[in-house]
Amino acid sequence: MIPGATPLVADKLRKLGLQTQTDLVLHLPLRFEDETRITLISAAVPDAAAQFDVTVISSEIVYRPRRQLICRVEDACGEHGKHAGPPQVFPGPSGGGRRETASSGGDLILRFLNFYPSQQKVLQPGARLRVFGEVRGGFWGTEMIHPRYQLLRGDEVLPTTLTPVYPTTAGLGQATLRRLIGRALQEVDLGETLPDPVIKRLQLADLAASVRLLHVTPRETAQPAARQRIAFDELLAQQISLRQAYAARRMHQAPRLAGDGTLTGRLLAALPFRLTDAQARVWQEISRDLAEPHPMQRLLQGDVGSGKTVVAALAMLQAVEAGHQAALMAPTEILAEQHYRKLAAWLTPLGIEVAWLSGSQKKRDKAVVLAKVGAGETALLVGTHALIEENVEFARLGLAIVDEQHRFGVRQRLALKQKGLHSHQLAMSATPIPRTLAMSVYADLDVSVIDALPPGRTPVVTKLVSAARRHEIVARVRELCRSGRQVYWVCPLIEESEALQLKTAEETYAHLAAELPELRIGLVHGRLKSAAKAAVMTAFVKNEIQLLVATTVIEVGVDVPNASLMVIEHAERFGLAQLHQLRGRVGRGAAPELQGACILLYETPLSATARARLKIIYESSDGFEIARQDLHLRGPGEFIGSRQSGLPLLRFADLEDTALVEAARAAAEEMLAKWPEHAERHLARWLGGRAELLKA
Ligand code: ADP
Ligand code: MG
Repeated sequence: MIPGATPLVADKLRKLGLQTQTDLVLHLPLRFEDETRITLISAAVPDAAAQFDVTVISSEIVYRPRRQLICRVEDACGEHGKHAGPPQVFPGPSGGGRRETASSGGDLILRFLNFYPSQQKVLQPGARLRVFGEVRGGFWGTEMIHPRYQLLRGDEVLPTTLTPVYPTTAGLGQATLRRLIGRALQEVDLGETLPDPVIKRLQLADLAASVRLLHVTPRETAQPAARQRIAFDELLAQQISLRQAYAARRMHQAPRLAGDGTLTGRLLAALPFRLTDAQARVWQEISRDLAEPHPMQRLLQGDVGSGKTVVAALAMLQAVEAGHQAALMAPTEILAEQHYRKLAAWLTPLGIEVAWLSGSQKKRDKAVVLAKVGAGETALLVGTHALIEENVEFARLGLAIVDEQHRFGVRQRLALKQKGLHSHQLAMSATPIPRTLAMSVYADLDVSVIDALPPGRTPVVTKLVSAARRHEIVARVRELCRSGRQVYWVCPLIEESEALQLKTAEETYAHLAAELPELRIGLVHGRLKSAAKAAVMTAFVKNEIQLLVATTVIEVGVDVPNASLMVIEHAERFGLAQLHQLRGRVGRGAAPELQGACILLYETPLSATARARLKIIYESSDGFEIARQDLHLRGPGEFIGSRQSGLPLLRFADLEDTALVEAARAAAEEMLAKWPEHAERHLARWLGGRAELLKA
């Protein structure tokens, strides 16, 4: 595939994701080394990389502290103690390589801890070498450990440009990479893939020139225009491929779920609240999609507590009105059951049966549900992963909804989709992501956003309290529970070990039970059997439990309006999104006395990042703002997590560059509509063989 690469080298290249010469051309240097000049030993700067031409004076193997080869060398020009020999001029940049002419003094040790007998043979007194590496003061004097070296024959030419150092993998040397990349730069067609009007409008730099420049100029000095051009092309490829995937799915047929509004109208009339404007708007968007003859591919984003469930219920009812079935899948048993209870409470009075399916269900009960779903007698099914098991067959699934979609893998979401061929798809997410990131990674979806909370909610008051004042917090919990309120106590996150996490939760529970003997306290954690978990949650919902000690299993979706205080221990260990999600569990009631409070207990001393995180969560209650800051702190790679496993991560583009992301989005649409061949060529350059993968 790659000219000049042996099968072994090709294998290594594949490890780096490099399969074509184009990939090589886009494999940019990590950093550069300056081999354009020769430094005199006396001018060496400690810890800085430099290049020297030297003569070996002595060479010996010593055995203390361990076997090693010690070569003493001096500047090659000053032979045998004569340091002020005539400076030798090397060809190089700006009229010849520079050779510092200050008189050299002293010598340098080259130290090799691992070496071959052949090396020892070469490194004999009198040998002339060009060495490159970092110089440092060591036990033996000024030394270089394992410097790169080559024997000088006398006709060496200094390079005129900086030497690029490329990201590589074990067993693939820089020299090989440089040679292959150099060749690729000669041979690859770097012709323009963008149509002229786009280049002119955006005033983009020439691509070929930009690429060549970036292979020879370090980041600090590289022209921003060149970087911007590469970043733009990368974003554009991503946008084109995602929009193409979107368009391809749109070609499929889906049942038109044009409801007559009878059921949805009755639900709206029966609700104890009116939809917020934001809810009404997204409901319209979804309703319109459902009535189209091709599958909806929509993501519903809304902060915790923004009221996504009722929108999901309306969508499901519209499917039923049109004579189809709808399914709702949630990532945890607790969450699924809560949806089930809520939907049943809303819909049973309308004469619509809601069925429940979960892994922990009795076989017999499951069989009954499966039979009814298969026969089409049950219109609505709510549950966990159990919904995507093989034996689940729908008579006519029209709409599949996935709650907290980021918790599911790509495969699981596909599995639900396959239950109803080309059914309408709605994904819901309470993890707000910044707009540019959404535009980038969700470019293959339509996105609806509920951007306001239901009225009457006062923002949760957040307090940062040092763990040294824990006793004050315990007193506050006692007081609150006495007055009829409920409290969550979230145990520290222990990432290394689930077992340790459980132990901590049990200890916290025991502590609090001893400190607050008059309270009814419950404990819920991930290791509990789902029935036990559900029992605890139900007791909390009914206020039979006043203080709920929990691990992060309560993170998502749980809705207990009477719970007004949340205490999070070791808050410094949590991520921002997680803290925000947790905090969203309180202050869900409309009554003013139910205003929520969240106490973040932290342990001192705080690391700088932990401090930055806590500051953000303290200062902002807006999920989107928090997400934006989080992106800034962590970078997109970690942020996106597992969702985009099929997507090549952006290497050059910075998603905080809103203007560039938007320009790429617009250009992608324009090219797909007006210049499809340009779009294809662009995609082929950037994604090569991977383009097909993305269309799946
Ligand atoms: P989330 O978006 O986090 O899933 P939910 O759908 O669980 O939020 O809604 C949170 C709470 O707000 C629920 O108790 C729900 O019944 C209530 N709710 C939803 N919409 C409204 C509204 N328009 N007015 C008042 N309360 C609402
Ligand atoms: Mg929810």
